[in-house]
Amino acid sequence: TSSIFAGVELAPRDPILGLNEAFNADARDTKVNLGVGVYSDDNGKIPLLGAVKAAEKARLEALPARGYQPIEGPAAYDKAVQNLLFGQDSELLAAGRVVTAQALGGTGALKIGADFLKRLNPASKVYISDPSWENHRALFESAGFQVENYPYYEAASRGVDFAAMKSHLAALDAGSVIVLHACCHNPTGADMSAAQWDEVVAVCRERGLVPFLDMAYQGFADGIEADALAVRLFAASGMQFLVASSFSKSFSLYGERVGALSIVTAGKDESARVLSQLKRVIRTNYSNPPIHGAAIVAAVLSSPELRQQWEDELAGMRDRIRAMRLRLLAAIKAHGAAVDFSFVTAQRGMFSYTGLSAAQVERLRAEFGIYAVSTGRICLAALNSKNVDYVAAAIAAVIRD
Ligand code: PLP
Repeated sequence: TSSIFAGVELAPRDPILGLNEAFNADARDTKVNLGVGVYSDDNGKIPLLGAVKAAEKARLEALPARGYQPIEGPAAYDKAVQNLLFGQDSELLAAGRVVTAQALGGTGALKIGADFLKRLNPASKVYISDPSWENHRALFESAGFQVENYPYYEAASRGVDFAAMKSHLAALDAGSVIVLHACCHNPTGADMSAAQWDEVVAVCRERGLVPFLDMAYQGFADGIEADALAVRLFAASGMQFLVASSFSKSFSLYGERVGALSIVTAGKDESARVLSQLKRVIRTNYSNPPIHGAAIVAAVLSSPELRQQWEDELAGMRDRIRAMRLRLLAAIKAHGAAVDFSFVTAQRGMFSYTGLSAAQVERLRAEFGIYAVSTGRICLAALNSKNVDYVAAAIAAVIRD
């Protein structure tokens, strides 16, 4: 008799994990991995932040018991998330208009949000930017949605094609879910201006769209408060919307899976009903969230000293990426590259869509041991003082010949 799994087909490989495997197998000691979306320090290592270390040490010494958490996570953590997203003095928070649940990273937040929305409005479609984080489409499809793109990136300017985006949004059906990168757009690094965000908020309100903000990089563009601009504009609009947020990058806690879903409602009574449904989604998925990562984040954010230390460390990561953007640009220029790379300092966050073709990316790998995504996305946070000139020379070489 044949196996009950005989009909299982091999799923396609994750392209970025495949890139990592190839990178790890590469014997060249000059190799550089610009593919993965993690922040590395100047020594090429994922940092363990000092504020995290201190909070972790205190927790370990306290030897806390490991009872179940509330389904939506501990109140102290949820409150800390809300303050970062909406601001300490937010009227929405005071009015009880925000419901927050701890989630398994930003991905988990998107998924419980998607499951919640699917139950609420099964016929609506989801719209993601073209291009978007590679997991957005699959995630919303796996929640049962039909997923479409809205225009976003403009190759010629390596920025946002705002006119195309806006007219597309203005033609969508009411109730359509629109996924927006709140800052540091992944994969392009191209963000909207404040004025453009204003217009997006207005279109969403006029069309009756359901905004779902994805905030995976708060603090990586201009700072914690400045990067919350999109959330604050939607908050001020009086609309209802969702925010998936993540501490993977901002706390360098990737593997601890610390994130949250926040839902802005019309009022206190609605909040109670929304939270009750969100808890059902969570309960039937994984019951309640893990303790450790969220406890560390809550401890850091509630201690004035550790919070300051974290803000300084986050600023350090942001500034280092910025410095790498400037150095990469200067070095590519110095090599006399035929292409103007100044877009690299206008784009924000960890990534840049460089405009390098798949063939040029392949040459970077074959000739230089430099690994990037075939779309031409590079991770600036993987550059450091030891490899940036090598990478610049290689990029200049592949765009020259
Ligand atoms: N959303 C975007 C736009 C991202 O870039 C990422 C991570 O790369 C995530 C969500 C997921 O973050 P997490 O690792 O916290 O699940």
